[in-house]
Amino acid sequence: MKHVVIVGSGTGGTFAANLLAKQLRSRIKRGEVSIELVGESDEHVFQPANLDVALKGKRPERYVKRESRLLNPLVKFYPEAAEKIDLGDRRVYTKTGRSLGYDYLLVATGAVADPSMTPGLEEGSLNFHTGPFNAARIWEKLKGFSGGRVVVAVAGVPYKCPPSPNEAAFLLDEHFRKRGIRERVEIKLLTPYPRAYPAEAISEVIEPLYERLGIEVVTFFSMDSVDPKKKVVYSLDGEEYEYDLLLAIPPHRGADVIIRSEVGDEEGWIPTDKHTLFIKDYDDALAIGDATNIPISKSGVVAHLESGVAVLNILSGIEGYGEVFRYNGRINCPMELGYGRAIFVSATYDKPPEPQKPSRIKAIMKSTFSRIYWKALSGDLEWIFKLFLGECASPTNGGKTVTLAPAR
Ligand SMILES: Cc1cc2nc3c(=O)[nH]c(=O)nc-3n(C[C@H](O)[C@H](O)[C@H](O)COP(=O)(O)OP(=O)(O)OC[C@H]3O[C@@H](n4cnc5c(N)ncnc54)[C@H](O)[C@@H]3O)c2cc1C
Repeated sequence: MKHVVIVGSGTGGTFAANLLAKQLRSRIKRGEVSIELVGESDEHVFQPANLDVALKGKRPERYVKRESRLLNPLVKFYPEAAEKIDLGDRRVYTKTGRSLGYDYLLVATGAVADPSMTPGLEEGSLNFHTGPFNAARIWEKLKGFSGGRVVVAVAGVPYKCPPSPNEAAFLLDEHFRKRGIRERVEIKLLTPYPRAYPAEAISEVIEPLYERLGIEVVTFFSMDSVDPKKKVVYSLDGEEYEYDLLLAIPPHRGADVIIRSEVGDEEGWIPTDKHTLFIKDYDDALAIGDATNIPISKSGVVAHLESGVAVLNILSGIEGYGEVFRYNGRINCPMELGYGRAIFVSATYDKPPEPQKPSRIKAIMKSTFSRIYWKALSGDLEWIFKLFLGECASPTNGGKTVTLAPAR
């Protein structure tokens, strides 16, 4: 019996578990393989909707589902946090004392947005990165906001969803214009990057828009601390920005279990081969999504695509394909620009993002995705991903190409 253990039941882990169960159906039924998924709880949150909750007033409950209902019945699910991962002994220990040995391990524990990493940030700001119910506090504040200084500030990199601070600035502008109080509100974006967005081609599109809308962008901003009483944000360079409402992108780090198990770097990011997704120095353990140290967007699309590649590598080991599959680094992050328009930040390891025109179709595509997300986790919509994003995995040896079996 071969044991595959997956730690983390978010976007990447859930999709990987379902895909593996689909691909290894017969073997699982014959008792040759088991797929075990360890998740912190039986809740699964669709995180991109946090922006809709914070800035469009959507209800947070709409975006939380029971994990056990999203899983293929052939997956064994343990809704209990992993306490320790021992890569040497090939074992995962859970908080309840369960000990799971593995032949293949997939780590998908995501990233933690942690306001406590910056002095004063927790008390002095609100955010849409620590869950939909915290995001709802922003909407409550906005409803009663009648004028003043709103600051959107990035407190550290990397963070989930690189376009999210820009989206927040544009959606704030739309919100205040629709309420007819835009001239009474000053909107500022504080970013650590040299331009409004880390990719040149995207900055070319959004900088003129910021100018037209009267949103000030402060670049090279490194947050030092926040004084919640005075309502001031301080930078490491000694700059000070006063605010009435501070929406922060908190600093992020790896999950506690990664830090505790010492399988990550000092911030808890797992050293991972950016092509094969194997954890450095291991050929039986892989990592995907936000948990890795791969210098690529921490986004759900990346977690999903990497998951597909990691699954191929696990299948290759179990089925003996003799191939190692490589991820091409495809990213595809939507950026909402307000008033029903959006762009997509799309690139691969070899191809940077290209300039593009904002469009309504792209905004419709973004909102359509939020509706098909739950279904996409089942693995039944892979044809849509292939149609829009192309093939993102290739075998290293150029040998046998593995096509995933059709959905049942
Ligand atoms: C405001 C916002 C907007 C976003 N917008 C977009 C977007 O438009 N498009 C996009 O592609 N992405 C977007 N994202 C990012 C996307 O949600 C994440 O990048 C994606 O969820 C990462 O998937 P993952 O599987 O790596 O991690 P996650 O989905 O975060 O899953 C990690 C899982 O691991 C679990 N875990 C952690 N520790 C343990 C432990 N000890 N034991 C067991 N389980 C554990 C966690 O509970 C969690 O369930 C957005 C995120 C935010 C916050």
